[in-house]
Amino acid sequence: MINIKSAEEIKAMRKAGRVVALMLQAVREAVRPGVTTAELDRLAEHVARSNGAVPAFKGFRGFPATLCTSVNEEVVHGIPGKRRLKEGDLISIDTGAVVDGYYGDAAITVPVGHVSELALRLISVTKTALEEGIRAARAGAHLSDISHAIQTVVEAAGFSVVRDYVGHGIGTTMWEEPQVPNYGPPGMGPILKAGMTLAIEPMVNAGSYEVTVRPDEWTVVTRDGSLSAHFEHSIVVTEDGAEILTTLERDP
Ligand code: MG
Repeated sequence: MINIKSAEEIKAMRKAGRVVALMLQAVREAVRPGVTTAELDRLAEHVARSNGAVPAFKGFRGFPATLCTSVNEEVVHGIPGKRRLKEGDLISIDTGAVVDGYYGDAAITVPVGHVSELALRLISVTKTALEEGIRAARAGAHLSDISHAIQTVVEAAGFSVVRDYVGHGIGTTMWEEPQVPNYGPPGMGPILKAGMTLAIEPMVNAGSYEVTVRPDEWTVVTRDGSLSAHFEHSIVVTEDGAEILTTLERDP
Protein backbone atom coordinates (compact mmCIF):
# COMPACT_ATOMS: atom_id res chain seq x y z
CA MET A 1 0.00 0.00 0.00
CA ILE A 2 1.63 3.26 -1.14
CA ASN A 3 0.28 6.35 0.61
CA ILE A 4 -0.96 9.21 -1.53
CA LYS A 5 -0.32 12.51 0.25
CA SER A 6 -2.81 15.35 0.34
CA ALA A 7 -1.83 18.90 -0.65
CA GLU A 8 -1.61 19.76 3.07
CA GLU A 9 0.73 16.87 3.75
CA ILE A 10 2.93 17.79 0.82
CA LYS A 11 3.12 21.31 2.19
CA ALA A 12 4.39 19.93 5.50
CA MET A 13 6.92 17.77 3.66
CA ARG A 14 8.20 20.82 1.78
CA LYS A 15 8.93 22.42 5.16
CA ALA A 16 10.81 19.37 6.40
CA GLY A 17 12.62 19.12 3.07
CA ARG A 18 13.68 22.74 3.23
CA VAL A 19 15.26 22.22 6.66
CA VAL A 20 17.13 19.16 5.37
CA ALA A 21 18.45 21.28 2.50
CA LEU A 22 19.56 23.98 4.95
CA MET A 23 21.36 21.37 7.07
CA LEU A 24 23.18 19.96 4.05
CA GLN A 25 24.08 23.42 2.78
CA ALA A 26 25.63 24.35 6.14
CA VAL A 27 27.55 21.09 6.38
CA ARG A 28 28.77 21.31 2.78
CA GLU A 29 30.21 24.75 3.53
CA ALA A 30 31.89 23.45 6.69
CA VAL A 31 33.61 20.47 5.04
CA ARG A 32 37.35 21.09 4.89
CA PRO A 33 40.58 19.34 5.85
CA GLY A 34 40.89 19.20 9.65
CA VAL A 35 37.19 19.32 10.57
CA THR A 36 35.87 16.33 12.52
CA THR A 37 32.71 14.51 11.55
CA ALA A 38 31.36 15.19 15.07
CA GLU A 39 31.74 18.94 14.43
CA LEU A 40 29.73 18.59 11.23
CA ASP A 41 27.11 16.66 13.16
CA ARG A 42 26.74 19.35 15.82
CA LEU A 43 26.37 22.00 13.13
CA ALA A 44 23.62 20.03 11.39
CA GLU A 45 21.72 19.49 14.63
CA HIS A 46 21.94 23.21 15.42
CA VAL A 47 20.58 24.12 11.99
CA ALA A 48 17.71 21.64 12.36
CA ARG A 49 16.66 22.78 15.82
CA SER A 50 17.02 26.50 15.08
CA ASN A 51 14.67 25.98 12.12
CA GLY A 52 11.96 24.29 14.18
CA ALA A 53 12.84 20.74 13.18
CA VAL A 54 13.90 17.60 15.01
CA PRO A 55 16.79 15.57 13.59
CA ALA A 56 15.18 12.46 12.11
CA PHE A 57 18.08 10.05 12.37
CA LYS A 58 19.04 10.65 15.99
CA GLY A 59 17.59 7.78 18.02
CA PHE A 60 16.16 6.11 14.92
CA ARG A 61 16.71 2.39 15.56
CA GLY A 62 19.36 3.49 18.05
CA PHE A 63 21.43 5.61 15.64
CA PRO A 64 23.33 8.14 17.79
CA ALA A 65 23.65 11.20 15.53
CA THR A 66 21.97 13.76 13.27
CA LEU A 67 24.14 12.93 10.26
CA CYS A 68 25.41 9.78 8.71
CA THR A 69 28.99 10.64 7.67
CA SER A 70 30.54 8.06 5.37
CA VAL A 71 34.13 8.68 4.25
CA ASN A 72 35.85 7.16 1.17
CA GLU A 73 35.08 3.40 1.13
CA GLU A 74 32.24 3.91 3.60
CA VAL A 75 28.96 3.72 1.70
CA VAL A 76 26.25 4.78 4.17
CA HIS A 77 25.42 4.90 7.90
CA GLY A 78 28.85 6.07 9.09
CA ILE A 79 28.73 7.45 12.64
CA PRO A 80 30.13 10.95 13.25
CA GLY A 81 33.01 11.08 15.74
CA LYS A 82 36.61 12.14 16.23
CA ARG A 83 37.70 11.41 12.68
CA ARG A 84 39.31 14.44 11.07
CA LEU A 85 38.74 14.86 7.36
CA LYS A 86 41.88 14.95 5.23
CA GLU A 87 42.64 16.60 1.92
CA GLY A 88 41.62 14.12 -0.78
CA ASP A 89 38.84 12.44 1.21
CA LEU A 90 35.34 12.01 -0.13
CA ILE A 91 32.51 12.37 2.39
CA SER A 92 28.90 11.31 1.95
CA ILE A 93 26.53 13.14 4.25
CA ASP A 94 23.01 11.84 4.74
CA THR A 95 20.47 13.51 7.00
CA GLY A 96 16.81 13.84 7.80
CA ALA A 97 14.51 16.23 9.64
CA VAL A 98 10.99 16.11 11.02
CA VAL A 99 8.65 19.11 11.02
CA ASP A 100 5.11 18.76 12.38
CA GLY A 101 5.37 14.98 12.09
CA TYR A 102 6.52 14.92 8.45
CA TYR A 103 9.92 13.73 7.29
CA GLY A 104 12.52 14.87 4.79
CA ASP A 105 15.60 12.84 3.86
CA ALA A 106 18.49 13.77 1.55
CA ALA A 107 22.19 13.13 1.00
CA ILE A 108 25.16 14.66 -0.79
CA THR A 109 28.76 13.63 -1.40
CA VAL A 110 31.40 16.31 -1.06
CA PRO A 111 35.13 16.37 -1.90
CA VAL A 112 37.48 17.42 0.89
CA GLY A 113 39.91 19.89 -0.69
CA HIS A 114 41.52 18.54 -3.86
CA VAL A 115 40.50 14.98 -4.67
CA SER A 116 41.35 12.46 -7.40
CA GLU A 117 39.87 12.51 -10.90
CA LEU A 118 38.16 9.23 -10.03
CA ALA A 119 36.52 10.73 -6.94
CA LEU A 120 35.25 13.73 -8.91
CA ARG A 121 33.87 11.48 -11.63
CA LEU A 122 32.18 9.24 -9.06
CA ILE A 123 30.49 12.26 -7.47
CA SER A 124 29.37 13.60 -10.82
CA VAL A 125 28.01 10.25 -12.07
CA THR A 126 26.12 9.57 -8.83
CA LYS A 127 24.55 13.04 -8.92
CA THR A 128 23.53 12.54 -12.55
CA ALA A 129 22.09 9.12 -11.69
CA LEU A 130 19.90 10.73 -9.02
CA GLU A 131 18.77 13.42 -11.49
CA GLU A 132 17.86 10.79 -14.08
CA GLY A 133 16.04 8.74 -11.45
CA ILE A 134 14.03 11.80 -10.46
CA ARG A 135 13.28 12.54 -14.13
CA ALA A 136 11.83 9.02 -14.46
CA ALA A 137 9.53 9.54 -11.44
CA ARG A 138 6.37 10.80 -13.12
CA ALA A 139 2.72 9.85 -12.85
CA GLY A 140 1.96 6.87 -15.09
CA ALA A 141 5.50 5.50 -15.07
CA HIS A 142 6.40 2.28 -13.27
CA LEU A 143 8.40 2.37 -10.06
CA SER A 144 11.26 0.40 -11.62
CA ASP A 145 11.64 3.01 -14.37
CA ILE A 146 13.40 5.03 -11.64
CA SER A 147 15.62 2.07 -10.77
CA HIS A 148 16.49 1.41 -14.40
CA ALA A 149 17.30 5.05 -15.15
CA ILE A 150 19.76 5.12 -12.24
CA GLN A 151 21.43 1.83 -13.09
CA THR A 152 21.83 2.84 -16.74
CA VAL A 153 23.74 6.04 -15.88
CA VAL A 154 25.95 4.32 -13.32
CA GLU A 155 26.93 1.30 -15.39
CA ALA A 156 27.53 3.35 -18.55
CA ALA A 157 30.21 5.13 -16.51
CA GLY A 158 31.81 1.83 -15.45
CA PHE A 159 30.68 2.07 -11.82
CA SER A 160 28.33 -0.19 -9.87
CA VAL A 161 25.07 0.26 -7.99
CA VAL A 162 24.79 -0.98 -4.41
CA ARG A 163 22.12 -3.70 -4.18
CA ASP A 164 21.78 -4.20 -0.43
CA TYR A 165 20.38 -0.74 0.37
CA VAL A 166 17.57 1.02 -1.47
CA GLY A 167 15.45 4.15 -1.56
CA HIS A 168 12.03 4.24 0.05
CA GLY A 169 8.68 5.89 0.46
CA ILE A 170 8.68 8.70 3.03
CA GLY A 171 6.02 10.71 4.89
CA THR A 172 4.92 10.47 8.53
CA THR A 173 7.72 7.95 9.02
CA MET A 174 11.16 7.86 7.47
CA TRP A 175 10.54 4.56 5.75
CA GLU A 176 7.25 3.80 4.08
CA GLU A 177 6.37 1.55 1.21
CA PRO A 178 7.57 1.12 -1.48
CA GLN A 179 11.24 0.18 -1.58
CA VAL A 180 12.98 1.99 -4.44
CA PRO A 181 15.93 -0.11 -5.70
CA ASN A 182 18.63 1.60 -7.74
CA TYR A 183 18.84 -1.24 -10.26
CA GLY A 184 16.51 -3.45 -12.28
CA PRO A 185 14.60 -3.68 -15.55
CA PRO A 186 12.14 -0.89 -16.50
CA GLY A 187 8.36 -1.30 -16.56
CA MET A 188 7.99 -3.25 -13.31
CA GLY A 189 6.35 -2.63 -9.97
CA PRO A 190 3.53 -0.26 -9.10
CA ILE A 191 2.40 2.57 -11.37
CA LEU A 192 3.42 5.93 -9.93
CA LYS A 193 0.62 8.32 -9.03
CA ALA A 194 0.57 12.01 -8.19
CA GLY A 195 1.00 12.49 -4.44
CA MET A 196 3.37 9.58 -3.85
CA THR A 197 6.43 10.73 -1.92
CA LEU A 198 9.71 8.90 -2.38
CA ALA A 199 13.30 9.16 -1.19
CA ILE A 200 15.44 8.28 -4.20
CA GLU A 201 19.04 7.55 -3.24
CA PRO A 202 21.63 5.94 -5.49
CA MET A 203 24.67 4.54 -3.66
CA VAL A 204 27.42 4.05 -6.22
CA ASN A 205 30.72 2.20 -5.86
CA ALA A 206 33.79 2.78 -8.01
CA GLY A 207 34.48 -0.97 -7.84
CA SER A 208 32.18 -3.92 -7.15
CA TYR A 209 28.67 -3.40 -5.80
CA GLU A 210 29.31 -5.71 -2.87
CA VAL A 211 29.23 -4.18 0.60
CA THR A 212 29.75 -5.32 4.15
CA VAL A 213 28.97 -3.87 7.59
CA ARG A 214 31.74 -2.92 10.04
CA PRO A 215 31.78 -4.35 13.59
CA ASP A 216 30.13 -1.11 14.85
CA GLU A 217 27.01 -2.67 13.21
CA TRP A 218 26.22 0.58 11.37
CA THR A 219 28.93 1.59 8.95
CA VAL A 220 28.44 0.01 5.53
CA VAL A 221 31.66 -0.22 3.48
CA THR A 222 32.57 -1.47 0.04
CA ARG A 223 33.87 -5.04 0.24
CA ASP A 224 36.76 -4.28 -2.12
CA GLY A 225 37.71 -1.02 -0.40
CA SER A 226 36.80 1.09 -3.45
CA LEU A 227 35.35 4.59 -3.12
CA SER A 228 31.61 5.10 -2.79
CA ALA A 229 29.26 8.08 -3.30
CA HIS A 230 25.64 8.75 -2.33
CA PHE A 231 23.10 11.37 -3.38
CA GLU A 232 19.49 11.52 -2.27
CA HIS A 233 16.41 13.71 -2.56
CA SER A 234 12.90 13.32 -1.22
CA ILE A 235 10.44 14.00 -4.05
CA VAL A 236 6.72 14.07 -4.69
CA VAL A 237 5.33 12.60 -7.90
CA THR A 238 3.12 15.11 -9.72
CA GLU A 239 1.03 14.87 -12.90
CA ASP A 240 3.88 16.39 -14.87
CA GLY A 241 7.05 15.04 -13.33
CA ALA A 242 8.59 15.05 -9.88
CA GLU A 243 8.97 17.96 -7.50
CA ILE A 244 12.04 17.90 -5.27
CA LEU A 245 11.08 18.49 -1.62
CA THR A 246 14.58 18.64 -0.13
CA THR A 247 15.61 21.86 -1.85
CA LEU A 248 16.04 25.58 -1.18
CA GLU A 249 15.07 26.49 -4.74
CA ARG A 250 11.50 27.26 -3.80
CA ASP A 251 9.63 29.48 -1.36
CA PRO A 252 8.66 27.55 1.78
MG1 MG B 1 16.84 7.62 2.66
